[in-house]
Amino acid sequence: MTRWAMVIDLRRCVGCQACTIACQMGNNLPLGMFWNIVTTVGPKGNFPALSYYHLPRPCFHCANPPCVVCCPTGASTQREDGIIYVNPEKCIGCGACIMSCPYGARTLNKKLGITQKCTFCLERTLEGKQPYCVSTCHQKARVFGDLNNQNSEVYQLVNTKNTIQIMPELGTDPHVYYIQS
Ligand code: SF4
Ligand code: SF4
Ligand code: SF4
Repeated sequence: MTRWAMVIDLRRCVGCQACTIACQMGNNLPLGMFWNIVTTVGPKGNFPALSYYHLPRPCFHCANPPCVVCCPTGASTQREDGIIYVNPEKCIGCGACIMSCPYGARTLNKKLGITQKCTFCLERTLEGKQPYCVSTCHQKARVFGDLNNQNSEVYQLVNTKNTIQIMPELGTDPHVYYIQS
């Protein structure tokens, strides 16, 4: 069984925001709505020894997603391939899942009255294509693939590099992994 996952190499990310715009345009999001943000962390240290890094954040497609558990209508579901999906037909825009996501990955589409978020570009993934953010990244900072396939680059990176999850202590088991800067 496929388990989709992503690795983001923070050593390669230059914070250009190309992935943010590719996501917004490719997924036809309204002006001001973003499913994939890139935050600059820092600078830290003392002048002149200052450093900073850029932190891209899609939905983490957690293995134990609080956003699914709290959904009162069953609109938020976990697919067998690990992708957390919001069914627009069932979503009532109550915002419970927005509150429960520790990573701020969900947002209300006010025009449609429903909650939306990164889907790992589900339609493209099902066609064997890469998500927009991955195919756009000129730095090759993002790798997407099947974590259950030992021959995949994602599997190799997660199992050989020193990858980390964000806030693992929450027990959500995010399936977006980071290689630290
Ligand atoms: Fe970083 Fe790549 Fe996104 Fe640019 S496109 S912000 S380098 S992840
Ligand atoms: Fe749910 Fe947030 Fe995890 Fe995405 S990052 S699966 S919205 S808890
Ligand atoms: Fe956006 Fe698709 Fe990347 Fe998710 S996987 S952040 S929807 S481009």
